[in-house]
Amino acid sequence: MADKRDYYEVLGLEKNSSEAEVKSAFRSLARKHHPDKNPDDTDSERRFKEIQEAYAILSNPQERRKYDMFGHDRPGGSPFGSSGFQGVNISFDDLFGGGFESIFSQFFGDSHSNSTKGSDLLVRHSVPFQAAFHGMDDELEIEVLKECNECGGTGSRNPEGSRLCPTCDGRGRIDEISMIGPFRQRVRKECSPCRGSGRIVSDPCNGCRGDGRSFQSIKVKFSIRPGISTGSRLRMRGQGEASTSMNGSPGDLYIEIDVETHPWFERDGTDLLMALPLSYADLLLGTRVELPHVDHEALNIKVPAGSIPGETITIHGRGLPNPRSSKRRGDVTVVLKLELPKKPSSSTTKSIRALREQMESELPNLENRVREEASKRRKS
Ligand SMILES: [Zn+2]
Ligand SMILES: [Zn+2]
Repeated sequence: MADKRDYYEVLGLEKNSSEAEVKSAFRSLARKHHPDKNPDDTDSERRFKEIQEAYAILSNPQERRKYDMFGHDRPGGSPFGSSGFQGVNISFDDLFGGGFESIFSQFFGDSHSNSTKGSDLLVRHSVPFQAAFHGMDDELEIEVLKECNECGGTGSRNPEGSRLCPTCDGRGRIDEISMIGPFRQRVRKECSPCRGSGRIVSDPCNGCRGDGRSFQSIKVKFSIRPGISTGSRLRMRGQGEASTSMNGSPGDLYIEIDVETHPWFERDGTDLLMALPLSYADLLLGTRVELPHVDHEALNIKVPAGSIPGETITIHGRGLPNPRSSKRRGDVTVVLKLELPKKPSSSTTKSIRALREQMESELPNLENRVREEASKRRKS
């Protein structure tokens, strides 16, 4: 590898060339040496591959920085894996348009996916039912593995005792390009010199024993939108566990919301359902019922005279807000029930007995009632 030419020299560039200059130099040289234009010219073929390799490195900001620092002898060996750069298939047409970048981006991936992300966390959090109507600002306190305060995440007692692992450049992972038949495959492995931490610590910190992370109590503030339902998850980006590697980004925190039950409403999306147990007299004579409601305006339920248990009354637009547009609200549906006194007093029993005689005389005879009921049932 000693005779390997400098990448800038290969592309005829200065060290401080811009990204656009790198690209245009590559494009014009690659056109000149493309195999389609130089059939059976082994020298051009070799040049073409050399240009591609130089471009793969210099067009990737992270790889270019490393190359600027270490040259060809960077720690960890070739960024293309043990077999070195294999060349890519790039058509002559690609060199006119801009279609060749994606061919090169496969080697290193983007810088974010290259670093080790900390673990995501999930916590469950209860909110009062009222939050499903108004929404609310809330906060919770949790213990999370965060960057150690004592050592600032270095894992070392003194600042000199920790250094970035040169093999993985602090990422804790290394990528190897291997050939499987005609396919180039990128395999990601845990870096063995630093065991995935991205750092080499000679004098470990007391607070975290060299891990660089310790449990800390953090307060997380968040907002709950009107219409939220049980099982909804809020994602708090970057509030999860710190990464095990120094360059890694923290994981995310998911807050799973549990909406507490309402004293009488059941919920069906934005609709609210309730049962209304009424006395026989209220069902027969009709009544008005007033209940406190989630929107702080009394819920008035008009029960018509002659209501039958099992019938429903719908009050439109008094349910919960739609999570997507809080101006739209669901309905309230009331199911009528008959509530009988469990142990009626003797005076009630006496009055009811008298009432029975009287009502029986006002109803059709029993057989006709049975027929009528059957024909209603068959019609519906
Ligand atoms: Zn390492
Ligand atoms: Zn520490």
